[in-house]
Amino acid sequence: MSNGPLVIKLGGTSVGGGPEFVRAASIVADTARDGRPAPPAVVVSAMSGTTDALLGYADATTGTTRTRTGATREGSLAELRRSLADRHLAAAREAVALEHLPGVERRLGTLLDGLVETLATPSEDPEVRRAETVVFGERLSATILAGAVESQGVPAAVVSGDPVSTTGGCTDAEVDAEETRRRAARYVAPLLEEGTVAVVPGYVGCSPEGATTTLGRGGSDLSATALGRALGSGEVWILSDVDGVLDADPDLVPEAALVPRLSYREAGAFASLGAKVLHPKTMEPASAAGMEVLVKSTFNPQSPGTRVSGREPGEGVRSVGLREGLSLLRCPGPETPFGEEVFCVLGADGGGLSYLVDGGSGAAAGIVCIGSPGGGQLVSGLDALRREGIGVTWAGSTPEGLLFVVDGAESLAALRLLHAALVCEPGGASESVAAAAAREVA
Ligand code: ADP
Ligand code: ASP
Ligand code: MG
Repeated sequence: MSNGPLVIKLGGTSVGGGPEFVRAASIVADTARDGRPAPPAVVVSAMSGTTDALLGYADATTGTTRTRTGATREGSLAELRRSLADRHLAAAREAVALEHLPGVERRLGTLLDGLVETLATPSEDPEVRRAETVVFGERLSATILAGAVESQGVPAAVVSGDPVSTTGGCTDAEVDAEETRRRAARYVAPLLEEGTVAVVPGYVGCSPEGATTTLGRGGSDLSATALGRALGSGEVWILSDVDGVLDADPDLVPEAALVPRLSYREAGAFASLGAKVLHPKTMEPASAAGMEVLVKSTFNPQSPGTRVSGREPGEGVRSVGLREGLSLLRCPGPETPFGEEVFCVLGADGGGLSYLVDGGSGAAAGIVCIGSPGGGQLVSGLDALRREGIGVTWAGSTPEGLLFVVDGAESLAALRLLHAALVCEPGGASESVAAAAAREVA
């Protein structure tokens, strides 16, 4: 077992306002006091909505002196500063004790001045400008969180350098594991060694030339596992506004229920299919280092959350994910369709291999039933779809689990049916009334 520190990642809603900062800080402070050899390193997202506001501003003003609404850049820059100051200062005043407040207010002011200066300085490259702008969201929230943790009697400080080192451009950058290890040893470990909670702005990286980069939308999850690997941590907590990883997107499947355990493979596949609670690359550092990832709620401490590890939890479909806008391509030869992103190789069909690719007409959808499907689950899925008159273009096994290809217009109905038929334990607590009725009838 590793003796590296616990890494806790707080998402945007977990630091969405004053009361949320207080709650998040008390989770961190309790963990710092619970007898572990070192306090935790805490990775923080921007307050919810801030990243969108900053990106919107950076995009609206790129290459022009006026924003899309027609305001002059100076006028709207002052507005942006004012609205960010209002929101962050209000949160700080609720979450930070009087003795620490002046320092936090001063640091917030310095950051906001830095943001204005960044935006006011001409930039050749809009991507660089976007990255330099957007990371202020995480720097602001990290400052408040450190003050809020200190206000609960536990020493805390924002790290003085960005620990995650990246390669490959300034947006959606790749983590450089070795250099991140060196930077974490320099900027994070000394704070932890002296007993101080190290607060790390998430999402932000640093290129080999020292330029600011970002890890892609939702990238603070990846910051947390990349940092955990660099510090030799045994466990990373991802705290969000849901009870953990649910077995389907709750916006698409209202009956979605908590998945207690997932393997790295299953969680990685689900995240790549858009399970928004995890950035698609979150599991890469975790699986490389064998760290457990616990995804749980900031707001419902009773919920056990989802534990992700190298252990395959056994036979069964764990979750269902949807991929829309795909085209079915048949290729006579062995060569893959060049220039298109292949979502899945479907297998030989006499005339050659078939592929599901992005683009083309984009009229097909794939429903991936992730896990280790048991014998008979493919047939059960096909039966469930057939009973409701949903045509299946292709169905079979893939490394992720089972794949059902249907017409895009029926994708949501198919997703719900497959969730009810394959994921919910028959007779179990999460089985929906409709699925139970369908089972009775069948
Ligand atoms: P955070 O700000 O904490 O990083 P996100 O908004 O990035 O949170 O991710 C949490 C959201 O992901 C949830 O509120 C939920 O609506 C959405 N979501 C989509 N699919 C899933 C899923 N399979 N399990 C849990 N949440 C999901
Ligand atoms: N704040 C960033 C985003 O909204 C990163 C994150 O929250 O993980 O995408
Ligand atoms: Mg997120």
